[in-house]
Amino acid sequence: MVVAILALQGAFVEHGYMLDRLGAEHFEIRQKKDLDRPFDALILPGGESTVMGKLLREEGMLEILQEKINAGLPVFGTCAGLILLAKEVAEDKTYLGTMNIRVKRNAYGRQLGSFYTEEEVKGLGKVPMTFIRAPYIEKVMEGAEILAEVNGRIVAARQGKQLVTAFHPELNEDVSVHKYFLEMAGMKF
Ligand code: GLN
Repeated sequence: MVVAILALQGAFVEHGYMLDRLGAEHFEIRQKKDLDRPFDALILPGGESTVMGKLLREEGMLEILQEKINAGLPVFGTCAGLILLAKEVAEDKTYLGTMNIRVKRNAYGRQLGSFYTEEEVKGLGKVPMTFIRAPYIEKVMEGAEILAEVNGRIVAARQGKQLVTAFHPELNEDVSVHKYFLEMAGMKF
């Protein structure tokens, strides 16, 4: 299993640590030519979706990734990565738009922007969740399934081989969400 991690900006290094612990190979995608290397799955990290989206567009990577994801490439978006995948973003731009979810950015307000909690994720039990100026999913649309909610707001969802979390599982010790993603991508444990 080889996982590509988008490394234009944001919290990409920590995803690599999680994959190391789970025994999955990985490399970073920084420019268009990195996409020539074969990979089985993709991680879109947290950071600033506007910056990542703009760079993806300028580097000519947006369409290539869009095609790969639409063709079934397993993808895991955390926080800003979730925003990049969303088909609809409330009062804001969309980027890859491959996942049938409607998202609200910076949805917890400035003061409540960052917090920690533990909540149930479908099939995984309680998972530690660190939120940093996080979005939430206003609604899931056709084909998308809710995996977790915090205070009545959707914070994790899946559609086929696309997985998104509004929180940052890579910032805690628990590897269960990454393991779930790798299993979804076909890795055997
Ligand atoms: N607020 C960021 C955005 O809108 C997301 C924050 C994060 O990825 N931790 O892109």
